[in-house]
Amino acid sequence: MSHPVLSSARANRTRRFSHAEREKNNLTGLVHPAHPRTLQHEIHRLITALQGLPDSLSRYQFLMHVLANDEQLFFAAVQNNVRKLLPMIYTPTVGEACQKYSDLHIPLRGLWIGIDQRGRVDQVLANWPETDVRAIVVSDCERILGLGDLGANGMGIPVGKLLLYSACGGIRPEHCLPIVLDVGCNTRSVRENENYIGLDRDRVTGDEYDDFMEEFINAAVKRFGKSCLIQFEDFGNSNALRLLKKYRNKLCCFNDDIQGTAAVGLAGILTALRVDGVASSLEDHRFLFLGAGSAGIGIARLIVLALQREGIEEEEALKKCWFVDSRGLVYNGRENVSEAKRDFAHDVSPSVAQVGNSGLLQVVKAIKPTALVGVSTIAGSFTEDVIHEMAEINERPIIFALSNPTSKSECTAEEAYKYSDSRAIFASGSPFPSVKLGDGRTMVPGQGNNAYIFPGVGLGVLLSQTTSVPESMLLAAADTLSTLVEVEQIDAGCMYPDLSSLLDISAAIAKAVCEEAQRLGLNQADVSGLDVNKIRQGMYEPGRLMN
Ligand code: NAD
Repeated sequence: MSHPVLSSARANRTRRFSHAEREKNNLTGLVHPAHPRTLQHEIHRLITALQGLPDSLSRYQFLMHVLANDEQLFFAAVQNNVRKLLPMIYTPTVGEACQKYSDLHIPLRGLWIGIDQRGRVDQVLANWPETDVRAIVVSDCERILGLGDLGANGMGIPVGKLLLYSACGGIRPEHCLPIVLDVGCNTRSVRENENYIGLDRDRVTGDEYDDFMEEFINAAVKRFGKSCLIQFEDFGNSNALRLLKKYRNKLCCFNDDIQGTAAVGLAGILTALRVDGVASSLEDHRFLFLGAGSAGIGIARLIVLALQREGIEEEEALKKCWFVDSRGLVYNGRENVSEAKRDFAHDVSPSVAQVGNSGLLQVVKAIKPTALVGVSTIAGSFTEDVIHEMAEINERPIIFALSNPTSKSECTAEEAYKYSDSRAIFASGSPFPSVKLGDGRTMVPGQGNNAYIFPGVGLGVLLSQTTSVPESMLLAAADTLSTLVEVEQIDAGCMYPDLSSLLDISAAIAKAVCEEAQRLGLNQADVSGLDVNKIRQGMYEPGRLMN
């Protein structure tokens, strides 16, 4: 059966059509129940149905079918149940969905552009049925979450990210375009699956890769305009920073793995500065990162920018950030220091150089950081000794274990509190349950979820029609997120606001991004005097998905 209203996810109201709507659209007899239900009733029914499903993958597939059938119900359900549904439509479930993408029965969503379509990327883009695209999330899927190269199966990631743009930022789904650039896949097991949906070939590299990327970027800008946001997502390390550097000043683009993470990481640190017993000026801190990949380098770069804003010279600011990678402490004169880490390779004494590769504990003793940030994917690397040492050096040690998923976290919330005499200021990449301390207090560890940042940045871009996303916009986003944390939350050990208020948070961040766009003269739309509540209610952009 094909009915113009029922087969349109945007128009379909399934069990909520009023009798008048049924008559008007010739739906009488085609839909049930006899008595139309309210949106709230249907959300409740959906949540109940989810609870009856056996595992997270079934819930993911169920939700994707709801989305393909009835957009209003899907987004209203997510907006009303952010904490419950976020993990089902994005991390951690989306990782498993991507691994099994070729075998699952998921309704089609997104645009796959293959390297075999080189020379006619513009024609493939023109196949996308929507013309008013304002936000693209694009991935070449070389590094999907912590799962490696999943090739064309990675579509779950751009789709999921954009669902959060809509659910948490209110950006209408028809303005969002998820794209996978299928440039091959180097994971044998992925390609050996007879159901694999992607190209059966190794990844292209070098000029061939760069030319294809350039063709895609040019075609996207030509078709959707200079202020269409292009978010790079889950590119491999060798391409992520390089592409960002190449396009950041030419395009309205950003990389969430690097810059979104940086903003959410910095926001948590800024909140920590408000805790009693912590030096309140960023300048008085020394950060030690375990892991020198996209996340670590991104956070450190934004810390440097925040310090520069306080009047610290770049050279001095860089010296506040130290890195330990898989070979030990990164220092000036060490072999194998990649370009991305070079700015953070500082001079050390011979004795420090000597302990540099003898384990994190020795490095902590030598560097004496005020904050330890885990972005290494090495579970348990913040050992009892390391946490204890941090608590020896600092009255209130900042310990952020940001690696995902939970199984890769550098330490648990409980360990951070237990081994620091309950003095650690803890945040994590994956959610941890509350921890009851010996003195009866209950700590509620905050999760540095990127969803705090990117929907608001996207909304700010959309409202201001900025033509680029300079780093200072991410700094503004981090500042704003931090100011939204209530004193009571800080007292409970939580460095982030409540996830259930994401629509409010995104509106506040959008306003800050608009103001920064205006300050820099990058806005094409008039954004003077924007009101957060009006942004929240979708009053500047009629038809936003508000709830
Ligand atoms: P990445 O692969 O780019 O970087 C990982 C880094 O860890 C690499 O530099 C690697 O050399 C280093 N490493 C590996 N083994 C090590 C060891 N034994 N000791 C020290 N360093 C070691 O990954 P990424 O994008 O930087 O992400 C890192 C982690 O941070 C992931 O688990 C990711 O899920 C998490 N992350 C969290 C957030 C968040 O909390 N919002 C955001 C982004 C990433």
